Amino acid sequence: MKRDTKMKEKGRLIVISGPSGAGKSSVVFRAIEGRADMCFSTSVTTRAQRPGEVDGREYFFIDLDRFHEMVANDELLEHAMYVGNAYGTPRKFVEDKLAEGMNVLLDIEIQGARQVMEKVPEALKIFIIPPSLEELRNRLVKRGTDSAEAIEGRLKRAREEYQEAVFYDYIIVNDDLDVAAEEFNAILTADRCRYPFRRHWLEEV
Ligand code: ADP
Ligand code: 5GP
Repeated sequence: MKRDTKMKEKGRLIVISGPSGAGKSSVVFRAIEGRADMCFSTSVTTRAQRPGEVDGREYFFIDLDRFHEMVANDELLEHAMYVGNAYGTPRKFVEDKLAEGMNVLLDIEIQGARQVMEKVPEALKIFIIPPSLEELRNRLVKRGTDSAEAIEGRLKRAREEYQEAVFYDYIIVNDDLDVAAEEFNAILTADRCRYPFRRHWLEEV
């Protein structure tokens, strides 16, 4: 279809942040199911692997020495400490996929997101929150992957993270997961229609 060829566009970098337990992974994985144009950037982390997590899918689980080496070699697009563990985004994967025209999703916390915003100001930034902090606690407890101490640390951090939501383009309140995934897709659809990405359609006029 003519429309498709004309719309051949560079990939979009999409930053997703929000408190741990808000449902970022749930929304992201639901939304990208069956979408060939969208891929998830798997981060590296020094935190312990949780039951059910697969090395290379949710994260690449590495030790602190390897993490420092990646930082020193400039292999990470951004990196940060979060509640006692180190996290980072491998640069090459992101750059390669964007160059191929894929949309690349980063699920990263706010310090890393700030670094990305500086390097890639045009990135689409979405902040995902739970309907309440009480519900956030319930989800973290129910998820069963963090100690009571870690949950308290994540809740404390959540309050700080909310102050940063102002730097994002959109907020999704993840109350009902289906609605949140719908909103996520709606944002992506609307984003694609924004003037900078459609400007080339006007060129022949
Ligand atoms: P994050 O990636 O933000 O840390 P997760 O996607 O791991 O969050 O979700 C945290 C927990 O909350 C998981 O157990 C998940 O199944 C659950 N969850 C996610 N979205 C919802 C929702 N809308 N309603 C109820 N539980 C949810
Ligand atoms: P969790 O340990 O619950 O998987 O993730 C904790 C926090 O780290 C979440 O807010 C998540 O978005 C963030 N995170 C995951 N990967 C990265 C990354 O590569 N860089 C940064 N800065 N944060 C990350």
